Amino acid sequence: MPRVLIVGSANVDFTVALPRLPAPGETVSEGTLLVARGGKGANQAVAARRLGAEVRLVACVGEDASGREVREALAGEGIGVDAVFTTSGAATGTALIVVDLAGRNQIAVAPGANRALAPAAVERCDEDFAWAEVVVVSLEVPLDSARRGLELARRHGALTILNPAPLPDRGVEFLELADYVTPNESEASRLTGRTVSDVATAGEAAAAIRARGARCVIVTLGAAGALADGPEGRAHAPAPRVTAVDTTGAGDAFNGGFLFALLRGRPPRECLRIGNFVGARSTLAPGGIAALPRRRELP
Ligand code: ADP
Repeated sequence: MPRVLIVGSANVDFTVALPRLPAPGETVSEGTLLVARGGKGANQAVAARRLGAEVRLVACVGEDASGREVREALAGEGIGVDAVFTTSGAATGTALIVVDLAGRNQIAVAPGANRALAPAAVERCDEDFAWAEVVVVSLEVPLDSARRGLELARRHGALTILNPAPLPDRGVEFLELADYVTPNESEASRLTGRTVSDVATAGEAAAAIRARGARCVIVTLGAAGALADGPEGRAHAPAPRVTAVDTTGAGDAFNGGFLFALLRGRPPRECLRIGNFVGARSTLAPGGIAALPRRRELP
């Protein structure tokens, strides 16, 4: 089975479903609460694990009830959590989400302990980087730590995937450390200064991002699927048609499915198809991970 190391965030998401979104200063009652695990790192780890990969996570949570729950739940999925560090200096990363009947949301995030994942902590995981076939890094952790993760992966000869999300205002200066960069439309737009809204503009943006040093670029296009541009050429695969209930974490799910197929040696277009399948499936239930498919469910 593929050996996958994820460097990224682990959060707890508190979602209150309300008849309508509150205005500033207003209280809207009669909500129902959903507490779910989230964070890009944790979501990607669960997506790859459910497909059968061996997965370890490098992350940081607080010394609090949320942190203990996150750790236990990830371990319960069969994910290696020895490198999920604990800090007494901040609370576990938390997102407070309000959704209305039309699926519109307001989200407030307190990154907390994710910000305490220092480059030195990443360096302490050298053995995990030596173990991994692929290392996936996203940007809800400090940029220096993300860069360090990619550098260590390269040093040990692992494939590197950079999910440039969320994209910081000052951009990312280490795209050349990534074998695969996986922006969504808005990240691809901001990385290149060009509007990305369809397959054609995604192809142009992917080429521009490759010119900055990434070997291969995958642009995810929501319901329109995903596009790959790399040394072997360009490919697009449409997503399966679904009635999406909640698209939170769809990109994380796509990344998990894509890398699983990649490590199984599948050709590029099939990696996109499997990424799309996992991404689309993840939208069928509220929260980022509830609807993530198992390996036997893959087409
Ligand atoms: P992000 O969640 O990072 O914004 P996207 O919206 O591009 O990323 O979604 C990632 C992937 O999830 C898409 O490439 C696609 O495979 C799948 N996906 C997302 N939304 C839908 C949808 N409405 N229908 C089908 N697939 C979807």
